Amino acid sequence: MLRLRSYLEGTWSEGEGVPATLHDPSTEEPLAEIRAAASLAGAVAYARERGGPALRSLSFAERGQLLLGLSKLLHESRDELIELALRNGGNTRQDAKFDIDGAIGALVHYAELGTKLGASRVLLDGEPDAIGRSPRLVGRHVLVPRSGVAVFVNAFNFPAWGFAEKAACALLAGMPVLTKPATATALVAHRIFERMAERRALPEGTFQLLLGPVGDLFDHLDGQDVLAFTGSSGTGARLKGDPRLVGRSVRVNLEADSLNAAVLGPDAGPASATFKMMATDVVRDMTQKTGQKCTAIRRVLVPADRLDDLRAALCERLETVATGHPAAAGVTMGPLATRDQLADVRAGLARLRAEAKSVFGGDGSIEPVGVPAGTGFFFGPVLLECDRSSEPTVVHQLEVFGPVATLLPYDGTTAAAAASVRRGGGGLVASVYSDDRDVVAEVIAGIAPYHGRIFVGSEKIADKSAGPGTVPPALVHGGPGRAGAGEELGGVRGLALYQQRVALQGDRAILEAVAARL
Ligand code: NAP
Repeated sequence: MLRLRSYLEGTWSEGEGVPATLHDPSTEEPLAEIRAAASLAGAVAYARERGGPALRSLSFAERGQLLLGLSKLLHESRDELIELALRNGGNTRQDAKFDIDGAIGALVHYAELGTKLGASRVLLDGEPDAIGRSPRLVGRHVLVPRSGVAVFVNAFNFPAWGFAEKAACALLAGMPVLTKPATATALVAHRIFERMAERRALPEGTFQLLLGPVGDLFDHLDGQDVLAFTGSSGTGARLKGDPRLVGRSVRVNLEADSLNAAVLGPDAGPASATFKMMATDVVRDMTQKTGQKCTAIRRVLVPADRLDDLRAALCERLETVATGHPAAAGVTMGPLATRDQLADVRAGLARLRAEAKSVFGGDGSIEPVGVPAGTGFFFGPVLLECDRSSEPTVVHQLEVFGPVATLLPYDGTTAAAAASVRRGGGGLVASVYSDDRDVVAEVIAGIAPYHGRIFVGSEKIADKSAGPGTVPPALVHGGPGRAGAGEELGGVRGLALYQQRVALQGDRAILEAVAARL
């Protein structure tokens, strides 16, 4: 069987101990093995001593060129990466493209940003401020790259984008990266690193791949390092509280779960483009990547008098979903990624069904297309519905990471819709579908502090948008509360995680001369 290797300190190493096995989730066929790496002290030192200085000697424009080269490399490898995502992730071609093209798009965005930032190596943050009676006495803020390593611990669902969106920001900011993909779907990230190493796509020491568990990695991190985590809120909370990270003030960013809500405004009737847009977005989010998308709409808020219409529109679209082997003709939704995922989704659905009835898809049992019965981690789309008079709690608290969403009728007032959305405890993205500016403004005012991003669906953009589930690199990604309280991307804002903001204070003339030399 294929043995995947970590790429550490400029060489490939197989690791040691009992292997973890990666499977094809459609056929359950074992695909590859991963063994744990030995001590990671050397990898951390290698990044700090070799990678960091190499990157910090480059201007933003030069770092941008590296990202552009990386985007081209991914583009060249696109077909084989899609094939690997299909086998190891159960992705349909469309799902795989969403991940891989998303990775390429993020790299290109930050490459272009590097070109715009030009020949400097640090960012000036605002203008000088007078800080005393004399006009000579000023202060100004600059953002300099941290001198450690940017460690990424990523979730299973986006093996390409999850790496690229973080790496684009860290590398452009001037920090070397060490990335650990989720074990179950590591084939795609592993192949990306094979191509990067073959091509020497980045300077030595700036890119390392750790497969399997983190081992002793956290023992070696300190206050110049960054840990950027994406995954479940349970794992995130464990990492955030890890005494080794807390004790040495390692900067930690968490991207975690989210019970993303979508609100249909009372103005959007069933014949309107806005209503249809919402129905399409909900079903896309339920089924794209088999619902294993952190930004997917989970809670669907609908005015009670539109409930029948929206339910009918969603069910009509869900009828067209064909679940099965992603390579089989006509299949539009693949399996869940792992056996554990399947067990978690089944258990989660059972909990949701204690307070919501299933109006499409029953308990998710399905006869998949293109595989023998009983094989693979398949689960069909399930639409649930809460009673108007009920007071659900689990629906607002439990993220079922699969093709499941719940209809929640509300009384048609923006106050009630906003209150219901807020019960999610903080999210990555919420959406409101309405052409009534008062409705949109009131809902946004009621939910903005609880979200990292708010998507407004409306008639004029109904056929022009990829929906709330797509994360544009120009906009911030992350959210408060349950979503982990982190922030990534957002154009130049995404660099801040990997930089130290420092206030320089002194004689204006000296500081101006110094700023030009940094
Ligand atoms: P997970 O089980 O929390 O794992 C995430 C990562 O953490 C994996 O690389 C995993 O490694 C690693 N990990 C697990 N335990 C660890 C520990 N004790 N110490 C260090 N690392 C550890 O999450 P998942 O099942 O992969 O992903 C699904 C979740 O991610 C969902 O809840 C989803 O909402 C969330 N997600 C959030 C975003 C976002 O941007 N906010 C994006 C995607 C997914 P192994 O695989 O080796 O166990």
